[in-house]
Amino acid sequence: MRVVDLIRKKRDGGEHSWEEIQQIVNGYTAGTIPDYQMSAWLMAVLLRGMTPPESAALTEIMLHSGEVLDFSDLPGRKVDKHSTGGVGDKTSLVIAPMAAAAGLYVPMISGRGLGHTGGTLDKLESIPGFNVNLSLKEYRAVLKKCGCGLIGQTTEIAPADKKIYALRDVTGTVESPFLICASIMSKKLAEGIDALVLDVKTGSGAFMKKEEDAANVARLMVETGKRMGKKVVALITDMNQPLGNYVGHALEVEESVRILEGAGADDLRELCLELAGWMIYLGERATSVEEGRKIAAETIRSGAAKEKLRQIISFQGGDPGVVDDPGRLPRPRNQLEFKSATSGYVAAMQAEWIGTACVVLGGGREKKEDTIDHAAGLILHKKLGDRVQAGEPLCTVLYNSDARLDEAQELLRNAYQIQEKPPAGQRELVHQVIQ
Ligand code: URA
Repeated sequence: MRVVDLIRKKRDGGEHSWEEIQQIVNGYTAGTIPDYQMSAWLMAVLLRGMTPPESAALTEIMLHSGEVLDFSDLPGRKVDKHSTGGVGDKTSLVIAPMAAAAGLYVPMISGRGLGHTGGTLDKLESIPGFNVNLSLKEYRAVLKKCGCGLIGQTTEIAPADKKIYALRDVTGTVESPFLICASIMSKKLAEGIDALVLDVKTGSGAFMKKEEDAANVARLMVETGKRMGKKVVALITDMNQPLGNYVGHALEVEESVRILEGAGADDLRELCLELAGWMIYLGERATSVEEGRKIAAETIRSGAAKEKLRQIISFQGGDPGVVDDPGRLPRPRNQLEFKSATSGYVAAMQAEWIGTACVVLGGGREKKEDTIDHAAGLILHKKLGDRVQAGEPLCTVLYNSDARLDEAQELLRNAYQIQEKPPAGQRELVHQVIQ
């Protein structure tokens, strides 16, 4: 079939065969289908959805667009975690070293920032010298030596997702559950893992704002993983405000280190312990999630997780000195306090706009080829439920270029909702567990 007819078919709500999906995915990956046709097809998928056989085909074709790694020679369970993306979500930087320090192998293939959310690879690249583009040979060697490697999709691993992901980021086609499932599971299943913990975000800063949508994606991914013989759990977690207090690449590396030092924001620490607890449990180093959490906490208390992060950074060519001296991370030239116009309580935070404020300050991409300012970002001083006085800073804005500073401040103005009375009780961090 001609590509235009495949686009029309999906646009009109038709169901693709396996071969048709293969034609589209492989054609785009090979460069024979141009961006504009792929964008149109992705939009049709976003609007029309997919049937279970289409969704399974998409994931498996993307998975087999590259190599499926085999680490069965390494003596131990290989476990990963993946998040659907949020604002200030730096849990990978914390729990990968925690889980590796607990004796698991963590072969983590991550993504870049998508829309208003930050990506693990971009955060890691704020560490001077850190190389996320290891060859598979180098990756295997790092994993063997230190139990954890953090890389992006190479041309060998799920190359279809690498290309499609970058296109979705700039064409408003991120939010489809089928595209999210295929993107995440194709990368993760290519990693040679035994088990996977999925952190599916819901709320104002998530791609799935409604909990039922998040639960849908979670079920889709858990079913896909199980069908492929993996242990998979999905935690539906709260993203109605940024996670932790720092948003922006270098800032998030710094905040991750604070958690590994036993300090830092409570919400971030709590989620890291929960996710790492599940990883350790599914990786069979504990007989319950509770025991997994205790082991995870011990990796922080003993300093083993922080030492593991130093090792990962140095094995991947980065400057491990940033762990003890965050001053070695990129720093912005300018900062300003963004102050509250009124007194009251923080009743709501539009985390998406906070993430977008970071993007317009230079800390994200709006076009595929944009470069990132790793130093740009925000330090949040007030979060949901906090009391604030008029004139008190809600956050500090850190930036190099002031080209879009006004726009960032406008986004922040709209993001914070201040009201007279304290808001009603807050949601738990973990809303649901889907197994
Ligand atoms: N993370 C991914 O890897 N892919 C998506 O589509 C969304 C979040």
